[in-house]
Amino acid sequence: MNGVALVVRGLVRHFGGVKAVDGVDFEVMPGECVALIGPNGAGKSTCFACIAGQQRPTSGQVLWEGVSLLGWSPRERLQRGVARSFQVAQVFEALTVRHNVQLALQVREGHWPAWRPLGRRHQPEADALLAQAGLGALANQEAASLPYGAKKRLELALALAGQPRLLLLDEPAAGLAGQERQALMQWVRKLADGGLTVLYTEHNMDAVAGTADRVLVLIEGRLAAQGRFEDIARDPVVQARYLGQTGLDFLPAGKVGHA
Ligand code: ADP
Ligand code: MG
Repeated sequence: MNGVALVVRGLVRHFGGVKAVDGVDFEVMPGECVALIGPNGAGKSTCFACIAGQQRPTSGQVLWEGVSLLGWSPRERLQRGVARSFQVAQVFEALTVRHNVQLALQVREGHWPAWRPLGRRHQPEADALLAQAGLGALANQEAASLPYGAKKRLELALALAGQPRLLLLDEPAAGLAGQERQALMQWVRKLADGGLTVLYTEHNMDAVAGTADRVLVLIEGRLAAQGRFEDIARDPVVQARYLGQTGLDFLPAGKVGHA
């Protein structure tokens, strides 16, 4: 595929009469960090779930490194380097933070762990991931007791435990505000700088500036625009159909041209 990592072609997902995704085409290059943005109900999560494998498209293709991802189980996807996170953080609530990561590392090795005590298995690697996630001090806490921001970081650490080459994140900073939100997006940026290919959905533009190399704007199931954040923010179609509805207060000052 001439170095293209992810190819989405003619992607359609209808629910009865609801055209959630209605013909979406885009590509992601290796090491690129791409944000799929748009208003609530635009079809971001549906489009994402078709790519990540939780939903089957009505029609269309999703190719990863030239091979169709459709029909692969989450396990097979992980084995081929594709990991995802969820809009609402999903972790193993009853386990400690460290055991969460140890378990994810064990799953990667192909041991199904239900009957196998975790003990100290993979502990150094788990602790390295927890340090990266800023969760070192919380390693022995039960995941259920974590503040939401820490849970989102743990979920990302679990995805990274699979050593993915493509990271799919559904609103990685959803439910986070201020410094926590910024820190998470900076971590995503750092992962992309380290060579990981990243595709993430986002509702607000503030998690896009400074993070995404490229932005895809989805409105009513179709791509309305794509490009660099700076250009997207000025795009009259995007302004009229998306930013105009949600307010412009989260855009950096001076970036918006008034047509
Ligand atoms: P976003 O993530 O951009 O907010 P979604 O992909 O969640 O948008 O939803 C897109 C549209 O598809 C919405 O109109 C939503 O109500 C509809 N939709 C999503 N999932 C389903 C489903 N399982 N059944 C029926 N309609 C759905
Ligand atoms: Mg969504």
